[in-house]
Amino acid sequence: MEIILIFIAGIMGLMIGSFLNVCIYRVPKRLSIIKPRSLCPKCSKALKFYDNIPLLSYIILGGKCRNCKNPISLRYPIVELITAIITALMFFQWGSNPLWLAAVLISSYIFIVIAIIDFETMMIADIFSYAIGFIGLSFSFFNPYFFGAPFQKLAQAAIGALVGAAMIWLLAFIGKKIYKKEAVGEGDIFLMAAIGAMLGVEGILSSLIIASLFGSVYGITLLILKKAKRFDHIPFGPFLSLAAIINMYSFIGINTFFFYI
Ligand SMILES: [Zn+2]
Repeated sequence: MEIILIFIAGIMGLMIGSFLNVCIYRVPKRLSIIKPRSLCPKCSKALKFYDNIPLLSYIILGGKCRNCKNPISLRYPIVELITAIITALMFFQWGSNPLWLAAVLISSYIFIVIAIIDFETMMIADIFSYAIGFIGLSFSFFNPYFFGAPFQKLAQAAIGALVGAAMIWLLAFIGKKIYKKEAVGEGDIFLMAAIGAMLGVEGILSSLIIASLFGSVYGITLLILKKAKRFDHIPFGPFLSLAAIINMYSFIGINTFFFYI
């Protein structure tokens, strides 16, 4: 695919990332994502269009509100940048399969929103997981990871969703027996079902392994930096979302993890 198209996809990604920031801020507060226009959360002044340009405005304003000079959360440029990079990569990878490209882009955007909200509030809004699950089922016919006739592909998405939910439910059950407390959130069950619908049974296993690896590295880093205590709750949604996005970009089969054992 031509480099200029990848570049345009990245610019589009920046603008979409800007909208995802609005969703991340407003959805947990149950505010409308359409009205009113973006405003500074500190002084409530509506942003001028030239102060609302993805990434650039943050840099030009030096990370401070033009009106009240309070710092703007670093989350805004980070989400915009991540969205731009993922959009460009997905275009590069799936440009020749437009319907599947649409499915992975929309679900990646929802995964980003889920990840940041879970990271900040420890909550996963199930409506987002339902949306990804619906995309996974209805676009299963174009899913390059599934094989066989269309109804077989649909079956693989459905079985993936069921196995995903069952697997995390089992983990939650075992965790509760061992630690005598809730180890897995209810939101994680629907999130796993959603990932299963996009990636199938092997994709669920693969995403769970990748997410556990990232989650462990993150948890150990926090312990070393003394930012967390041993049994502090670490949100799992961000790592599951990241693992799912990686697998949607390029599938990592589970034999990859056991090849060297
Ligand atoms: Zn302000």
